[in-house]
Amino acid sequence: MREKIIESLKSKLNRRVWESWFGTFDVKEIGADYVVFQVGNLFIRDWLEKKYGALISKTLRELFGKQMNFQIDYAPAQSQEESEQDEPLVKKRPLVLTPLNPILTFENFVVGPSNMFAYSTSIEVAKNPGKYNPLFLHGGVGLGKTHLVQAIGHYLFKNEPDLRVIYLTSERFLNELVDSIKKNKVQEFRERFRNKVDVLLLDDVQFLIGKSGIQTELFHTFNELYNAGKQIVVCSDRDPQQLEKFQDRLVSRFQMGVVAKIDKPDEETCFKIANRMVQLEGGRLQEDVLRLVATHFSDNLRRLRGALVKLIMYQQISNETVDLQKAAELLSVASFETKKVLPEEKLIDALCKVFGVTQQEILGKGRKQIVINARQIGMFVAKNHFGLSLRQVAELFGRSHPTVSHTIQKVEELLSSGNIVVKNQIDQLMKYMTDRVSNQSI
Ligand code: ADP
Ligand code: MG
Repeated sequence: MREKIIESLKSKLNRRVWESWFGTFDVKEIGADYVVFQVGNLFIRDWLEKKYGALISKTLRELFGKQMNFQIDYAPAQSQEESEQDEPLVKKRPLVLTPLNPILTFENFVVGPSNMFAYSTSIEVAKNPGKYNPLFLHGGVGLGKTHLVQAIGHYLFKNEPDLRVIYLTSERFLNELVDSIKKNKVQEFRERFRNKVDVLLLDDVQFLIGKSGIQTELFHTFNELYNAGKQIVVCSDRDPQQLEKFQDRLVSRFQMGVVAKIDKPDEETCFKIANRMVQLEGGRLQEDVLRLVATHFSDNLRRLRGALVKLIMYQQISNETVDLQKAAELLSVASFETKKVLPEEKLIDALCKVFGVTQQEILGKGRKQIVINARQIGMFVAKNHFGLSLRQVAELFGRSHPTVSHTIQKVEELLSSGNIVVKNQIDQLMKYMTDRVSNQSI
């Protein structure tokens, strides 16, 4: 019966909860209508009673088929008692203020050119805490900062169970401080963050912009931890220099170690991320649908995930496979087909913006190099990316058929000879238009 009770409890809890709180938990005695448990730590005993009392009761009722009383005794192991006498009670347990999301692990992180550096440094930090200090991760909203910093946390919990790891958002850090001030416990707050942490993972530090009191507190916390060789990881939506209204001394601390930026993923990486997300959600989506979502939501992966979840849910509820058209409709985005019939004025308009020239110049006879350039790229894109016929391109640009044909051929030659400038110009133009299409229709 002892094993059954333990197994049954274990099966109802996630692994980390089990490892954190039930490590020394055991059955001590089983009576007719009661069970006595024991646990090796007073603090944990109280915690288990408070948080898991109902679950233990329920489990016993299931197993014994009737209501059972239970109690949890505190039974320190002899040797432990001696060696840990004046240590804090939960010293050897990981500390998490905000629980980690189990999905945000290194295994579930898709690596591509946009996040390679941030990923590699995060792995190094997780493997050698204290060596690259601090690690400052930054990048736009929804590009994977929280994912990486939590992945470091997961890695450490798994591989360095003795390290005291704290993950928290800067908002939480601020609230904890405010709370401690109210309760006259600032000393305890300082003690906790400066002396009882081996790895501090601090998310969204931009939240502290303009809040100078907490910045001072963070500065001292930082110094204590840093000087003691403890690892610090800080995330922010902008690079340290752009943290306006931040104390200079703090900004320069942030730059002392490794500063790693996460960029917007390229289309292929984004597609892979979409794929992984669908897999993690336990769903299935067609490849062309994944590609559609990947092109439209690459600038914020949280929205990408939201879009995928929406499609998966629709599929499950309606029992109908979401095809490209349906997906575009559900997400109110233009599908690839509609993108091709982008009104021609928009192409000219985009050329003006990207090349910094005017419509009159493009359609006129001017021979300024940049204008010639814009015209050439415009004709090429109109034909090759938007599928206009040579005649349509000629009309659009007010040029003769042979001129257009000759121009496009020239661009093609430049491209096939590996001309980077031309390629970049085309990419830029396409990106400008794709962004506009998705922004307009979302
Ligand atoms: P940030 O903290 O930078 O705002 P998050 O870390 O919360 O962004 O990421 C947003 C979402 O995108 C999360 O669901 C996260 O798991 C996912 N995500 C971000 N980058 C990747 C990646 N490279 N591979 C897989 N999922 C990712
Ligand atoms: Mg985040």
